[in-house]
Amino acid sequence: MADLVLQNLTIKYGAVTAVDNLNIHVASGEFLTLLGPSGCGKSTSLFAVAGLNHATSGTISVGDRVLFDGNPNNTVPPEKRNIGLVFQSYALWPHKTVAENLAFPLTLRKIGRAERDERIKEALGLVEMLPYADRYPFELSGGQQQRVALARALVYRPPLLLLDEPLSNLDAKLRERARVWLRELQERLNVTTIYVTHDQAEALAVSDRIAVMSMGRMRQLGTPREIYERPADSFVADFIGSSNFFDGTMVESGTDSARIRLADGGEIVTPPGPTGKDGSVVVAIRPEKIELTGSTGPNTMRVSIEQRTYLGSVWQYAVRSGPIEFRIQTPSELKEDSILVRIPQEHCAVFPDKPGAN
Ligand code: ADP
Repeated sequence: MADLVLQNLTIKYGAVTAVDNLNIHVASGEFLTLLGPSGCGKSTSLFAVAGLNHATSGTISVGDRVLFDGNPNNTVPPEKRNIGLVFQSYALWPHKTVAENLAFPLTLRKIGRAERDERIKEALGLVEMLPYADRYPFELSGGQQQRVALARALVYRPPLLLLDEPLSNLDAKLRERARVWLRELQERLNVTTIYVTHDQAEALAVSDRIAVMSMGRMRQLGTPREIYERPADSFVADFIGSSNFFDGTMVESGTDSARIRLADGGEIVTPPGPTGKDGSVVVAIRPEKIELTGSTGPNTMRVSIEQRTYLGSVWQYAVRSGPIEFRIQTPSELKEDSILVRIPQEHCAVFPDKPGAN
C-alpha cells in the first residue's frame, strides 16, 4: 500500500481555476473523502490523480513514485499509474461477461491466463459476486453492477483506489448498506482510498478524514467529528449537518470566552472567535444542541414557537425571539406557545461572516 501526496495542486481550464492550490497527504490505508457542492472541484482533483486530465501546476506522488512533477508535458499516462478507479456510472462493457470485464485490465497488463483466472476469482469473491461470473451486466441489478465495477478496479491490486460518487445510482436503503460494506472491504484490503461525494451524511459515515471543498479550495481537512463539531468556517458549519446563524456584535472578547450582543438586544457568552467589519460576528449553533430549560440564566432566551415539524426521531421547531428566527430539535413534543431555551456556550462557534459571504 502507499500514501498519496498532493502538493500545491492547481488545475485551470482557461480562466476557470477548478482546483486551487490543494495540499493533502492521504496516509497509507486511509479512507479520505473529498466533499463539497457540485462544481467545487472534487472530480477534477480525482481525475488528475488518475491521469485523466491535465493538472496545471503542483505535484502528485503515490508512495515514492512521482506521477506529476509540475510539468504538464511530463505526466505519467493513466494506464501506467496502477490506480483503481470506479465511477458513478459503472462503465462495465455491456457485451462482455462479468469475468471478461475483469479479465480486460489484467490482459492489458500482460498477466498470464492461470494467474488471471486466479485473480478474477479472488476479486469476485471479495465483492461476493463469484456466482455471477458468466452473466452479462444487463442481467445484474444496479447494486451488483456496482460491485463488479469495484472488483474490476481491485483485480490488479492497485495501491490506490479512487471512487467518484460510486453509490449515487443506488436507492437510499441499498446505498446505506453498500457504504458499510464498502468501508469494511476497504479496511480489510487496507487500500488507500479517495472517495468523492456531495453527500455529507455519507462522508461522515465512511471516512477516516474529510476534505471539505468549495469553489476549488479546501476549506477544512479533518476527521468527521472535527468537521462536524469544530467547523473551520461558516461554509463548513452550514454544509455539514445544519446550523443556525445569529447575527451579532462583539461586546467583549477574552482568552476563553466572548460576549456577543444579538439582534433581539440580549447577550450570549460564546467561545472567542474572529470578528468581521465593525466587530460584527455570526454565532453558529446546531438545532439539536439547543436545550430546553426551566429557569432563566446566562444564554437563555424566551422564544415563541412558530412552526412544528415531526421528523420521526425528533421534532423540529421554528422559533423566534424578536427579529431572531432559528430552529431547535428535540425528541419531545411541545404543546406550549412559548418556551425557554438555553444556547450552550461550548456548542457555539463564532465566525466573522455568514456562509456564502466567505
Ligand atoms: P465537482 O466534481 O465538485 O462537481 P468538477 O471537478 O467537475 O466539480 O468541476 C469543477 C469546476 O471545473 C467547475 O466549475 C466545472 O465547470 C469546471 N470544469 C470541469 N471540467 C472542465 C472542463 N473539461 N472544461 C472546462 N471547465 C471544466
